[in-house]
Amino acid sequence: MKYKTFFTPGPSQIYFTVEGHLKTALQENVPSISHRGAAFKEIFASARNSLKALLGLPDGFDIYFTSSANQIWERIIQNLIQEKSHHFVNGAFSKKFYDFAKLYQKNPTITKSEDGRDFDSLAIENKTELIAVTLNETSTGFAFDQEKLKALRSKYPDKLIAADGVSAFPAVPFDFQLVDTAYFSVQKCFGLPAGLGVWIVNKNCHQKHEALKKAGLATGSYHDLATLRKSGLQNQTPETPNILGIYLLGKVAEDMIRKTTKAIQAETAYKAAILYQAIENSGVLKPFVPDKQTKSKTVIVAECADGNSEVLEKMEKQGWIVAKGYGSYKNSHIRIANFPTTGKEQMEQVADFITAL
Ligand SMILES: *Cc1c(COP(=O)(O)O)cnc(C)c1O
Repeated sequence: MKYKTFFTPGPSQIYFTVEGHLKTALQENVPSISHRGAAFKEIFASARNSLKALLGLPDGFDIYFTSSANQIWERIIQNLIQEKSHHFVNGAFSKKFYDFAKLYQKNPTITKSEDGRDFDSLAIENKTELIAVTLNETSTGFAFDQEKLKALRSKYPDKLIAADGVSAFPAVPFDFQLVDTAYFSVQKCFGLPAGLGVWIVNKNCHQKHEALKKAGLATGSYHDLATLRKSGLQNQTPETPNILGIYLLGKVAEDMIRKTTKAIQAETAYKAAILYQAIENSGVLKPFVPDKQTKSKTVIVAECADGNSEVLEKMEKQGWIVAKGYGSYKNSHIRIANFPTTGKEQMEQVADFITAL
């Protein structure tokens, strides 16, 4: 079988150190240890500490583990919103969070923009309790302008802000002081097997949750914020968690710290720049997101003049598995994951190939 590289934005190519860690994990019986024992507590604490260092999390933020980012959307709705949330939507993932809030009858409001296009207005209804932004809209390759996030923070200091960092962390710089909660799952930039979500919250979230409980709201069961917190204080989870996933996340975070967050982010920016340049120069591709400021650095999306099938086929012949467009763009876009596991040299090869298309 020919060696393949997955440039798909989730699940994606496994981070190059995972194979070794997986072998060690099996030798050390990680999947079989008790989730109430000392060995697990050590794995839990170490994964948390490494993530904190890697992401540059300020003090006052807690980290919890769930099964996916989808689950975190639901937990945010249950734990942090009494009546009203607001959502910035210009793609499929931001829309899904909004749809979940509707299903939970939270009267969500929306600022909608065309797919991949920036938001003109930052106006939000007074009654809004939580503002949801998607840092990197994986469906269209749109990156939320962090200057806008700053503006939201200063304009609405009393509202909670939630950031979807699923396909952004740790590959793009982010100031966590701008938000109250942020989250990601591990099958994107971290290059890990799917099935683990990471939920980051500050004390405003704990306070809000307590207020909802006092108001008599049902805020969930095993993953309500107070339960997560209580278990977390013991370096445990309420349920039997994805122990292997937490172990691997901790190990990969350590590897990334060794490389340094700065180097990972600089390399991501470099690889994104050469990919966009190649797309501009190719005869058949065009970047889908027009504005430089909002072009994603981690998920590069291009429109194909004559449909994507020929481009995808040619790339597959090189052993490169590139993603189709998302949803209605299935046949017209390609999406290339520019995640930390892909080195500069390999991305230079991809860029040369695209330039020549
Ligand atoms: C993939 C993705 C999600 C969903 O992640 P799951 O782990 O499948 O729940 C949410 N938001 C963004 C931006 C994503 O890319």
